[in-house]
Amino acid sequence: MLDARLVKKSHANHRTVVQLSEQVAIGGSTVIVIGGPCTVESAEQMEQVASQLATAPIHALRGGVYKPRTSPYAFQGMGVEGLRILAEARSRYGMPVVTEVMSIAQMAPVAAYADMLQIGSRNMQNFELLKALGQAGKPVLLKRGLSATIEEFVMAAEYIMAHGNPHVVLCERGIRSFDTYTRNVLDLGAVIALRQLTHLPVIVDPSHAAGKRELVADLARAAVACGADGLIVECHPEPDQSVSDARQALSLEAMVALVHSLEPIARAVGRTLSKDSLAEPKQLVTV
Ligand code: PEP
Ligand code: MN
Repeated sequence: MLDARLVKKSHANHRTVVQLSEQVAIGGSTVIVIGGPCTVESAEQMEQVASQLATAPIHALRGGVYKPRTSPYAFQGMGVEGLRILAEARSRYGMPVVTEVMSIAQMAPVAAYADMLQIGSRNMQNFELLKALGQAGKPVLLKRGLSATIEEFVMAAEYIMAHGNPHVVLCERGIRSFDTYTRNVLDLGAVIALRQLTHLPVIVDPSHAAGKRELVADLARAAVACGADGLIVECHPEPDQSVSDARQALSLEAMVALVHSLEPIARAVGRTLSKDSLAEPKQLVTV
């Protein structure tokens, strides 16, 4: 491993807890679930999502407003209007929000509205963006690059920390392989390795890994069983109508059923999903 000085574990129990809000922290005993649509589409859509997810052990909301689309002709996201919609859902339901930042110019507006900045797979090695995140003043959700090795992933996190931001959460979201049946291959071995190598929380995105909704729930359960600190899962009030990633979107009902099914698995690995235990890890542990 290269000189991963800041992200490297210094002893077996060395773990960082990243605080998203007063009540929500990633990396403690609670397995954190982040749910929401691929793309923020309207205030009504986010209201439907948030009102339903708030009834379950789901701790934070997601929704892209700056979207990295393969085609320049595809919908690129609602921008600042979408940020306002996310902030509205947050204040109404008390759930922190996570959204993607694709450029340095987007960092200030996103940081003004969101609780956590997502760096998407396509930007995992955008080194200028990683350096700028050092001063973002918000926690970062760093997604693994489409074909990034574990070492490259760890070093991308090192960039953010080396530039002054210790609040980094890693996200395994599947890597490219030869098989086109699934969109990507979920690398659960990487989740285990990252938790052995680093002290940072590691969460799993089964949605972008699978690319097919019928695979998402079982992958999510496998992720919790292998020690993931959380999940980020795409869901939508009308999955087939999603403007992006429709094929992998769960219905809101399926999302709620999924999180309830996680509780016994979390318990089996010494954790919980309960929102009641969220108050416990208040202290930010940094290197
Ligand atoms: C997303 O979260 O909607 C997304 C674009 O993810 P990734 O960067 O992992 O493809
Ligand atoms: Mn998506």
